[in-house]
Amino acid sequence: MSTADAPLSVTVIGCSGGYSSDESSCSSYLVRSPTTTVLLDAGPGSSIELQRHVQLEDLDAIVLSHEHPDHWTELPVLYHAYRYFMEASVPVYGTVGTHRLLDGLLPEANETAFEWTDINPASVFSIGDLSFTFSLTDHPVETLAIRVQHGDRALVYSADTGPEWSPAAFEAPIDVMIYEASLTIDFEDKDIPHVSGRQAGLRAAEAGVGQLVLTHVNPGGDPRERRNEAEQVFPGAIHLAYPGFTLPIEA
Ligand SMILES: [Zn+2]
Ligand SMILES: [Zn+2]
Repeated sequence: MSTADAPLSVTVIGCSGGYSSDESSCSSYLVRSPTTTVLLDAGPGSSIELQRHVQLEDLDAIVLSHEHPDHWTELPVLYHAYRYFMEASVPVYGTVGTHRLLDGLLPEANETAFEWTDINPASVFSIGDLSFTFSLTDHPVETLAIRVQHGDRALVYSADTGPEWSPAAFEAPIDVMIYEASLTIDFEDKDIPHVSGRQAGLRAAEAGVGQLVLTHVNPGGDPRERRNEAEQVFPGAIHLAYPGFTLPIEA
């Protein structure tokens, strides 16, 4: 089955952790069913790769995981596009903390370009034919891991998290999981609120995840190290995120 025919797919738009690299913007992922297109996170610089895959006016919504700048600060730039060039609006879902930061920067954005909805770990809603649920991760600000379901297929995005959170907090199944792997094993004991490739693999295995996509590696970091660590503990397929990488989530 080609990607275009897949009932659900995810495309990596940006995957760099902390700040953009010379190859990728920060976190951003495009989730598509045959009728619905939703962007998960809008890290700085992400609208460049995004427009290689979808017209901005065809986005049905933007869902933001948390208020750290590497996950949402393309939004003020997308505001220009929607308000002044498209004269359109797009629904945006994000935490109260992210809402507050956007209001401080662009108080008029939510009366014009965005239709904002505050979300929290208990939020449940649908956008088109995609169903969304959330889980509070192990991170210094309110951070929501995101589960997207279409029919009997489901994707989970970890957002940012330390090792105390597990995707087992979500309903099974999880066919594909985009898991941050900011760290290598050497940094596990340094009290950094992220996980290593090993920890991502362990948690994903515990939750019965089908396939892993490792992401959020900082510029200069080696994603292959994270994959080597994860392979020791995770039995399924492991992919490394890069801009444009598309994974159909098939039955
Ligand atoms: Zn981050
Ligand atoms: Zn963060």
